[in-house]
Amino acid sequence: MVTAVYPGSFDPVTNGHLDIISRSAKRFDHVIVAVLTNSSKQSLFSVEERKQLLQEVTAEFSNVVVDSFDNLLVDYMVSQQASIIIRGLRAVSDFEYELQMASTNRTLNDEIETFFMMTNPIYSFLSSSIVKEIARYHASVSELVPAPVEQALRLKFKP
Ligand code: ADP
Repeated sequence: MVTAVYPGSFDPVTNGHLDIISRSAKRFDHVIVAVLTNSSKQSLFSVEERKQLLQEVTAEFSNVVVDSFDNLLVDYMVSQQASIIIRGLRAVSDFEYELQMASTNRTLNDEIETFFMMTNPIYSFLSSSIVKEIARYHASVSELVPAPVEQALRLKFKP
């Protein structure tokens, strides 16, 4: 039984994240989408809001669960008996940071492996930051995020 963890900020979850989640759900027995709570990034949505949205949009996948963690990723992985970290790669610009993270995690625990999945090309430009930027100006994000996220963004940026 292979458990994989897909960690991230998910502030908020986008169609790009969802693509990685659905592809992972086909390849691993069990996938935990884990929201990092102690991120240095300033977030728009609270951890509870981010988890709620992730739960709604992943409800169709029976082997996907949503959780959050505030300790070191490798320690969280051990606590969940998970051996694989999933990360998505969009562009060369993601590579350096991801290499650093994967190398650090390997140094901390070499039983844990990071697997990278290439973005679906239709989402290669898509990030949570871009989505927030567009929504802030009340433009449509319907092609970029699932409907519940679009609704939540509309409420956040209500004029
Ligand atoms: P973090 O703050 O940890 O980078 P994000 O929520 O921004 O968290 O991203 C989580 C993971 O999802 C990262 O591996 C990121 O590269 C990946 N990701 C984000 N957007 C996309 C996308 N459009 N296509 C593929 N992977 C993506």
